[in-house]
Amino acid sequence: MSGDVGKVYLVGAGPGDPELITIKGLRLLREADVVLHDRLLNDELLRDLKAEIIDVGKAPGRHKLSQEEINELLIKKAREGKVVVRLKGGDPYLFGRGGEEALALREAGIPFEVVPGVTSAIAAPALAGIPVTHRGISTALTVVTGHEEPGKEKELDWHALARVGGTLVVLMGVGRIRENTSLLIDGGLSPQTPAALIERGSWPDQRCVRGALGDIAERASSSGVKPPAVLVVGDVVKLEKHLGRRRIAILRAESQLDESVRLAERYGFIPVAAPSISLRALELPPDVKERIERAECVVFTSSNGVEIISRRSELLELIRRKRIAAIGPKTAQALSAKGMNVDILPDEYSSAGLVEALRGLKRVLLLRSAQGSPALLEGLISSGAEVDDVPVYEVKGSEDSRLDDLIRKAELIDVFAFTSGSTVRYLMRRADELGMEDHLRRALDSGLVVAIGPPTAAVLRELGVRVDVIPEKYTFEGMLEAARRESGVRS
Ligand code: SAH
Repeated sequence: MSGDVGKVYLVGAGPGDPELITIKGLRLLREADVVLHDRLLNDELLRDLKAEIIDVGKAPGRHKLSQEEINELLIKKAREGKVVVRLKGGDPYLFGRGGEEALALREAGIPFEVVPGVTSAIAAPALAGIPVTHRGISTALTVVTGHEEPGKEKELDWHALARVGGTLVVLMGVGRIRENTSLLIDGGLSPQTPAALIERGSWPDQRCVRGALGDIAERASSSGVKPPAVLVVGDVVKLEKHLGRRRIAILRAESQLDESVRLAERYGFIPVAAPSISLRALELPPDVKERIERAECVVFTSSNGVEIISRRSELLELIRRKRIAAIGPKTAQALSAKGMNVDILPDEYSSAGLVEALRGLKRVLLLRSAQGSPALLEGLISSGAEVDDVPVYEVKGSEDSRLDDLIRKAELIDVFAFTSGSTVRYLMRRADELGMEDHLRRALDSGLVVAIGPPTAAVLRELGVRVDVIPEKYTFEGMLEAARRESGVRS
């Protein structure tokens, strides 16, 4: 096809989340013969393309291409008749040197088009719960670069910026944050002006460090913020408390994880699933049938126990003829799902509540975890019951890599939800094995720690962890409700 000239599309890729590219950008990526992209782009966008893909940020084994070399490569590929996508982070024309590339193409007589993108200047604050303008709070947005190449451009007048009012967003602002925030204060902005740094906006490990103009540089360095990050200065930052989503660590066993994640999302959290425990079904005693027969009442203390017992339908048949007690609504639900009627549900969903509800019963059979609370057994015995405690499953550490990831990035977690003493013990044990116990303890200290009920809280305190919240109702939903109230999330 000699003589045919190609075309170059300067496409904005958005801030990182691959779903934040435009429909047009995505279509062009799929149609392109060649894609030139920068560092920092999400690989997912580049998967399954027919195009030749060139990383001009850090081509393996090669040095980073200079702007001139990038321009030349664009022109060369277009002259070969290729459809070229030049994929850039955020929007191509906001601190992306897209304009320079467009001018070079124009000069070389190559057809080109710009496809705007979602810029990090607005999207990163938005995703952290900060609208850059807000009625009654800010009616202006100023976007600047914090990192100027000395001598290249006219210096930014930071003192003047301090007087503009409204919201100031600083891109490429990590390196010179100390100097720039001081200049703004010198220029007349109060050191108390709210400020936030949003690191890796829209990526799974997005993080927001909050503070004020006077201390945000210090906070950024003590929490190790690295580029890419945007600095937001202005009263709109206060909205983060209400609009920001909080990350909640869910440490339950695999069997309860999916449902817990769904619930946490419904309550407005970003769930981080990290099972700290795993369950192993135990072999039941050979005389289990007789023991069921002998009992007056059969007690389940978790849906896990129900799940495991129901693998043996002949046992379910025997249990069906007994009075059945469940510790709380989730366990009761699991039983009804197996066609079992629950006769006894305590007012308080705890061992103490069960002891109360079972008062007067003579022969009680517990089908529960090998690590079940001794309080239940002791309480029943002292209220005069004859108790048969049959372990149905045991709780172990999970060996799940998600738990290790959680511990390494514990500082990203806002809320830690502990649903049992064993979730606490195995989390701490794993952190110790990784040599990161101190790191985890710092994160627990600055986050919100929620215990499902008093026994879990007791284990936390025994291990030296402060407990912030115990819900009124000892259920996972009760925890989410309480955590939402305490952590400022309004979904
Ligand atoms: N054209 C891009 C900006 C390129 S300059 C855009 O419109 O977003 C690079 C700077 O953008 C980084 O130093 C950082 O300040 C900001 N940035 C890019 N992606 C970001 C992200 N996901 N989260 C926070 N800041 C980001």
